[in-house]
Amino acid sequence: MNPTRRSFMIFSIGMGSALWLAKARADVPHLSESDPAAVAVGYREDAAKVDKAKYPNYAAEQTCANCSLYQGKSTDAWGGCTLFNDKLVAGKGWCASYTNM
Ligand code: SF4
Repeated sequence: MNPTRRSFMIFSIGMGSALWLAKARADVPHLSESDPAAVAVGYREDAAKVDKAKYPNYAAEQTCANCSLYQGKSTDAWGGCTLFNDKLVAGKGWCASYTNM
């Protein structure tokens, strides 16, 4: 196989894999705030709406995007969370299990 054809095939496989991963992520449902597991930890899609009286440990700069359990990139609008591994959480969300250790 000539180098140009090999490079094209490697590029094509890489692009196919990237598209497959993007589609797989798009198929993962978002965690609903009304999901019993979300309610149990006070999850909110928008951290600004956290009940600060109920969750005094919440600090304004805390969001899912900078939580150690977040599986997405810090710039992702939605990403996985090891706490809710079958659903995506909002990057600007928050829950009482937040940690940055
Ligand atoms: S554990 Fe972290 S990433 Fe998961 S929902 Fe709570 S704050 Fe967001």
